Amino acid sequence: MEAAFSQFYKRTPKQRLALLAETLGLSEAEQQALQQRAAQGDAPLLIENYLTTYQLPEGVAVNFRVNGHDYVVPMVTEEPSVIAAASNGAKQLTIAGGITAAVHSRLLTGQVVLSDVKVYASIDDWVALHQNELLDVAKQAHPSIVTRGGGPKSIRTRDLGEGFVSIDLTVDVKAAMGANMMNTMLEAVADVVQSKLHHTTLFSILSNAGDQSLTTATVSVPVSQLADDLDDAQQVAKRLVQASRIAQLDPMRAVTHNKGIMNGVDALVIAMGNDWRAIESAAHAFAVKDGQYRGLSDWQLAGDRLTGTLTLPLPVGTVGGATKVLPLVSINQKIARINSPEELMKLIAAVGLAQNFAALKALVTSGIQQGHMKMQVRSLAMTVGATPQEVPVLTEQLMALKDPNEAQAKQLLKQIRN
Ligand code: NDP
Repeated sequence: MEAAFSQFYKRTPKQRLALLAETLGLSEAEQQALQQRAAQGDAPLLIENYLTTYQLPEGVAVNFRVNGHDYVVPMVTEEPSVIAAASNGAKQLTIAGGITAAVHSRLLTGQVVLSDVKVYASIDDWVALHQNELLDVAKQAHPSIVTRGGGPKSIRTRDLGEGFVSIDLTVDVKAAMGANMMNTMLEAVADVVQSKLHHTTLFSILSNAGDQSLTTATVSVPVSQLADDLDDAQQVAKRLVQASRIAQLDPMRAVTHNKGIMNGVDALVIAMGNDWRAIESAAHAFAVKDGQYRGLSDWQLAGDRLTGTLTLPLPVGTVGGATKVLPLVSINQKIARINSPEELMKLIAAVGLAQNFAALKALVTSGIQQGHMKMQVRSLAMTVGATPQEVPVLTEQLMALKDPNEAQAKQLLKQIRN
């Protein structure tokens, strides 16, 4: 097989498909399915060995009010119930007065790492002495970002131990995510370190920590809004706060708590053509910032109000990367009325908070399955091959069963077809 795939990258998508079909036995129908999903425009050029375009459904969450503005939120996800829960959570938070969100700062940090350092102070002193020169070198490596009002801001060193030292460069990347411009600047700084400090560098790359791109979303909900009866509402508020507290105490629960937040965050980040692996890594690193993995959000009772806070590192961009190449991103930016990365950061944090509110409230009241049931059953109907016409009928029949399974779904579908 290795010989057949030699120079695979030089072949056209059509030739790649033909080779895959021949060597892996893809049927005519499978080949057609791959071909029919070919992307438009330049999207195939984004990656290597392009074959086809893997489709994920996109929907919109509604009812969001953030800092007094109403938003419709494009979300790309394969998971049922995520968009329904986001819209439902947002509706309740909007009735409560809406979400407030603020960006703490928007900078990117990158590292030039040195190894085999004998005396840390010698590197630290040299960098301190040459910081203006190093910042100038970084500026000259990508001058257009300086013209745009951004560029390198500061440089410092950190002793990592075991002879490793990190020279950290902080850059204002304006509206971009900034990975490539940062890496270009770091490599220029590394060249100077090697030629003038005479110390070889191990590697140079941005950090995905995102801790200088923090955004906080907050909300305050009257307890009375949580149920028709005030006693019930107080119980819901108390249980919701307790559920949030458990995510602070128990890493096993915190992972699931945060996964629920990322359901909404990732869906919006993907819709905006951004690097969701970067956002995922940053979020989980931030969740363990004090040494224990904890829930990213926090819910407290303050008198007769329930307050929720979510802080996330959100190093996203509204230009560059895949944002112009993926055809739907600019339309999604228009749908969400996003004109700046700061606005996007605030909306993402707000979506995470609404998603978390909806999940926690469901969890401590009806349980998570009740709300999810219809969507999960729809998925089951599709899994067993129901057509779009059959899905509603089969879903209704499956909903009448206690805990429907695949065998029952197949059986019912057979009956519908007879
Ligand atoms: P680009 O390389 O596309 O750079 C952004 C470009 O946007 C700049 O070069 C700039 O052009 C242009 N631009 C236009 N308007 C503005 C503006 N207002 N502010 C800032 N820039 C503007 O993308 P990024 O550097 O943002 O890198 C993002 C990509 O890098 C993502 O696809 C990511 O997946 C990938 N990546 C991620 C890594 C990681 O996370 N570890 C590592 C490597 C890559 P001009 O040159 O004219 O200034």
